[in-house]
Amino acid sequence: MDRETIQKANKIWNSVLGKVELSIPKPSYDTWLRNTVGISFTSDEFSVETPNAFTAQYLEERMLDMLEQELRTTIGFDVKLKFAVTNEIIIPGENEQPVIPSSPYSRSGPTAKHTISGHDLFQDPVSNVVGEPRIGSYDFNTRYTFENFIVGNSNQLAFAGAKAVSENPGTIFNPLVIHSPVGLGKTHLLQAIGHETKKLGLLVMYVTSEEFTNQYVKAIQNRQTEEFRNKYRTVDVLLIDDIQFLIGKEQTQEGFFHTFNSLHVENKQIVVASDRNIDELRTLESRITSRLTGGLVTDIQAPQLETRIAILRGKAAQQRYDIPPDVIEFLGNKIRSNIRELEGLLNRVVALAQFRDEPITIESVKRMVGDSEKLSKEPISDSKIISEVSNYFGVTSDQIMGPLRTKTCLVPRQVAMFLLREETSLSLSAIGKILGGRDHSTVIHGYEKVASLINVDGKLRSDVLAIRNNLTGIAR
Ligand code: ADP
Ligand code: MG
Repeated sequence: MDRETIQKANKIWNSVLGKVELSIPKPSYDTWLRNTVGISFTSDEFSVETPNAFTAQYLEERMLDMLEQELRTTIGFDVKLKFAVTNEIIIPGENEQPVIPSSPYSRSGPTAKHTISGHDLFQDPVSNVVGEPRIGSYDFNTRYTFENFIVGNSNQLAFAGAKAVSENPGTIFNPLVIHSPVGLGKTHLLQAIGHETKKLGLLVMYVTSEEFTNQYVKAIQNRQTEEFRNKYRTVDVLLIDDIQFLIGKEQTQEGFFHTFNSLHVENKQIVVASDRNIDELRTLESRITSRLTGGLVTDIQAPQLETRIAILRGKAAQQRYDIPPDVIEFLGNKIRSNIRELEGLLNRVVALAQFRDEPITIESVKRMVGDSEKLSKEPISDSKIISEVSNYFGVTSDQIMGPLRTKTCLVPRQVAMFLLREETSLSLSAIGKILGGRDHSTVIHGYEKVASLINVDGKLRSDVLAIRNNLTGIAR
């Protein structure tokens, strides 16, 4: 296919999109059409590339007639519209293509652009300069902003610290340390700092200490510690998440200590999040803990009911869910100490109502949550999840854990990643290991992929719900 044909196909398709955009609701357009690209045509067939198979299927089933008609009026004759997927789902680490600058955390990101392998015409110029996809300035999760962060007694100190650091990086509190049990907003705040400092034009890097370790170990193996150091030394703001992962990794602690120092003396901002408090981190080298306590150490406590309700309201409004106040209050009372679980519960309630095509009422929610509470006492094992997923999709667990990236394996695998993360307390890397030795960025990407797709893809949503029901027995 030559460049000219691609260019022409894309131009035609854009003009079709231009018309369609005006005639269908914006959310539908954004979800299903915005990231499609015209790639080729013959006298009787016009090919359009979609970012993933779900989109292709949806367009084929729901919008084909309308799109073919628009295409006909645009080019003046009848052609068949075909939807193609080049790389179904981009998975960092599993895909040869560079994935920068899309981070595994960004839900929308430039995925579509990057799926167009082979057509350099469409490639984001940035993607050509990458060697090391895990390092560099991140596209942060668009939901993790200060605006979306609900402030209450439990988190106001951490919030204030994060704000102050964003406004005056490197000068006020350095380092800023935020600690709390899981699911209370540390990563959210770290990424919010990322958004803000990036706006100041600073080079910002977000990295989990697990990633940091992997990079460091690799650098040592490849005798590239100098490069490693230089990469980190150039950043203005270093956001290190889940520092507790450094426990027991003496060599990496050494690397971290030096990185920390060289940034610190140059007044570069360092922000650290930890699932443990500093005392519990004492198995880290004391010179590290004493460095960490040299700035501002803040914690986040479990949110009070008021805050939980405000978070649920905000979340419902963001996603345009219409949820009665009594349901919000009921949910807010159900889960007290983990906001991620709180959000998960909300999503589940909404998904179930959509699945059953029923309004959300306090009665239906009580029925569902009441049941799930009884049954959720028993932890769900990873092997049970994998076997339920493989039964459901009719693949073997070896296929789920194996290397194949065909749709038949990839979808069940990503659903397994999603469920393992939602239903167990396994770490990302533990999940990766269970799923055939994949790395944790692959897992988080799979998780995010499913988490966002179930909001828009009815089929996937009902698949995931059905598997979840089999696992937990809820919603029967
Ligand atoms: P942690 O890193 O502490 O484990 P996260 O930052 O991942 O927790 O937060 C878990 C979820 O809860 C995220 O979706 C986050 O957006 C949400 N969340 C946490 N705290 C708040 C808050 N104060 N306001 C709104 N959302 C919050
Ligand atoms: Mg976190």
